[in-house]
Amino acid sequence: MNIVQEIPSDQAEIIIIGSGIAAAAAANSILVETRRVNNLRRVLVIESREMCGGGTGRGNGLLNCAPHEMFHRLRSTIGLHRAAALVRFQLAHIKVLRELCQEIDRGDGYTEFREKEMVELYLTERDCKIAFAKARLFAQWIPEFKIATFGADQARERFNVSQAVEGALSYDSATISPFHFVNSIWNTLLLKYKPFLYIMTHTNVVAIDSVKGDPCKCESLIVSAHSTKDDGYVVRTTRGNFRCNHIVHATNAFAPDLVPGLRSKMTGILGTMTAMRPGFGLFNLGKRYAWSVVHGKTCDNAMQRPANQRSPGHIITSGGFSRAAGHGTSMIGV
Ligand SMILES: Cc1cc2nc3c(=O)[nH]c(=O)nc-3n(C[C@H](O)[C@H](O)[C@H](O)COP(=O)(O)OP(=O)(O)OC[C@H]3O[C@@H](n4cnc5c(N)ncnc54)[C@H](O)[C@@H]3O)c2cc1C
Repeated sequence: MNIVQEIPSDQAEIIIIGSGIAAAAAANSILVETRRVNNLRRVLVIESREMCGGGTGRGNGLLNCAPHEMFHRLRSTIGLHRAAALVRFQLAHIKVLRELCQEIDRGDGYTEFREKEMVELYLTERDCKIAFAKARLFAQWIPEFKIATFGADQARERFNVSQAVEGALSYDSATISPFHFVNSIWNTLLLKYKPFLYIMTHTNVVAIDSVKGDPCKCESLIVSAHSTKDDGYVVRTTRGNFRCNHIVHATNAFAPDLVPGLRSKMTGILGTMTAMRPGFGLFNLGKRYAWSVVHGKTCDNAMQRPANQRSPGHIITSGGFSRAAGHGTSMIGV
């Protein structure tokens, strides 16, 4: 989706940089909340590519967080109780997204939300044992969410997978088309908040200065100035300059380009995704399952988009990180 809108002036109250899922969530919250208090603010969204052309448009759309793995990772940093609370919060996303997609879809399945059984396949006995131990601890702390475990023979039979598989575990999950979902949110917001939301695609933000002319020393992803006149920001773009009082950086791995405070703290990792059109022998194979093949600390994921009369449903795979040169180091900072 490319959007060319006439921007009524070079002033907006709030500028959001980026148009992926983080930007859509920020715009939605700002517009809903400011309308609730009868004080709607003018929001300008600036995106360097087409609408939703970043990670969101290329994501697989698996809605699981590998809950046993996440719990294990978090418990060592924030403790068992808080880890359990945070994982419960993440698991609740599926319910919220189901309801939101039903509202957006109005029966036509546009967002491609589908409940699935997520199957994690393990290729070594060691990886399998480690995962089962994590699943056992998870069951003690979050017993209401069921994770089933399968030994090698059971896994091969139940999921019809090769002899290379040494075990599996599975749990309830869901998939979505993030591109369709997020673009629907933008469409809805544009219709609902017409004179208050402007979007410019194919416009790169190249620098941010203070109104007084100094380069902005941003330290965080949300910055605010206090007074409208002398204290705002000038956002310099490839289509001219725009003034505003608040900036939300929703630029994902590009954040350090515009937020100097993050430069030594984060960098991007290149993620790749492939969409393959299979033969009709694989018609809607992914209606019930989504898959993840786990190798040590990384994994490759696969899911299938819904089939229709013309297509058996594209198979979407992503990953390959640990197989890249230098066990993935060639994918960092590119
Ligand atoms: C291959 C792949 C598969 C994935 N699979 C999954 C999955 O199955 N499940 C899951 O939950 N997550 C998955 N993810 C991760 C998920 O897609 C991202 O975490 C999420 O979409 C990030 O959203 P975002 O809004 O933060 O960033 P993005 O969607 O990347 O949006 C950032 C936007 O900012 C724009 N931008 C950057 N710099 C500028 C600038 N200077 N001026 C203007 N615009 C700018 C970019 O063009 C981009 O559109 C996957 C990611 C990839 C790459």
